[in-house]
Amino acid sequence: MRFEPARRPLTGETLETLSLSMAERGEKPFRARQVLDWVYKKRARSWDDMTNLPKALRSWLEGEFTLMPASLVLNRHSADVTDKLLLELGDRSLIETVIIRAPQDGVGLDHSRKTICISTQVGCAMGCVFCASGLAGLKRDMSAGEIVAQLLQVCYAEDKRTPRARAELASFDNIVVMGMGEPLANYDALIRALTIINAEWGLGFGARRITVSTSGLVPKIIRLAGEPLGFRLAISLHGATDEVRTRIMPINKAYPLAKLIPAVRTFTERHGRMVTLEFILIADVNDSPDQARRLRDIALDLHAHVNLIPYNSVPGLPWKRPAPSGQLAFARVLERAGVSVTLRREKGHDIAAACGQLRLKTERERETAEVSS
Ligand code: SAH
Ligand code: SF4
Repeated sequence: MRFEPARRPLTGETLETLSLSMAERGEKPFRARQVLDWVYKKRARSWDDMTNLPKALRSWLEGEFTLMPASLVLNRHSADVTDKLLLELGDRSLIETVIIRAPQDGVGLDHSRKTICISTQVGCAMGCVFCASGLAGLKRDMSAGEIVAQLLQVCYAEDKRTPRARAELASFDNIVVMGMGEPLANYDALIRALTIINAEWGLGFGARRITVSTSGLVPKIIRLAGEPLGFRLAISLHGATDEVRTRIMPINKAYPLAKLIPAVRTFTERHGRMVTLEFILIADVNDSPDQARRLRDIALDLHAHVNLIPYNSVPGLPWKRPAPSGQLAFARVLERAGVSVTLRREKGHDIAAACGQLRLKTERERETAEVSS
């Protein structure tokens, strides 16, 4: 499923593809770089801003490309640590991008560090039973240009908040691909987007500060391990046995732990970096002492970091997080064995983990409005 806009998003072009299109028109070789400079370094918001380009070239660009394929519908700024941007794509699909002003390592609250959580699909096909993003299934894949556009929208929002940030290229510290969608199910667009985000002619953002989170698409994890850019990897494990994992994550039937664990090992060996195992704690589902011990063994075996996230309730779904004492007891089982473990308690992460909920709410309101009008 794809959305084919009349004009291609400029944010989906690499220096190579843009240079090619422009060379076909007989443009000088340095022009493509100039255009991308306007987009990423000078943050031009309209074609007319690109003052050092000939007018004829600007009109041609305008006829070929959309400058910004995602428009801002809502910026929900919360006084504590997050901003949620609700963005609308060319076909009116809604997606969410979250700015978390808190560290990802769980140590204290330092609002100066910013992590951006981006989406890769409209909805999700994986059907994890606890997740808001997957409730209505997959609507469509996002294009590379739409994925990149989220970060530019974040830059625009941040430039407005702190004009000084403009001097920096990207005014944030980490990118996590943990928003709506399964990133590895939209592999080519994901890699193209991350290449643009990473490139010196793009956002110039270091690959080691980008984490891709997956529910466990084994063949794609192995493919990702072979990518030249060394992105970080997080696995949504959420169950330490096949029995528990299959109950909440249907993907575990196709790729059970006996396949997933060796794939993660391959990734760690190729990149020499710790993988993160994400484990949301859901009361009476995966929070037993037995699950804690099995998770401990998997983490020790893979030399992986474990991120425990108390479940964030989703309206309409029955799941709940365990009491704080239960969360701590679970964490201690891992800690005592020397596993590197964090237990998330900051509000910001709750909001990010629930990425997909704001969109769901707006979609529902929109449907109600359309039905009643
Ligand atoms: N599809 C990818 C990335 C997006 S989901 C994946 O599953 O990894 C990002 C993370 O949020 C995943 O670990 C997911 O399991 C978790 N998550 C989803 N719904 C949640 C909720 N209600 N509370 C806490 N974490 C949730
Ligand atoms: Fe999709 Fe990830 Fe949600 Fe599962 S947890 S439904 S893979 S977005």
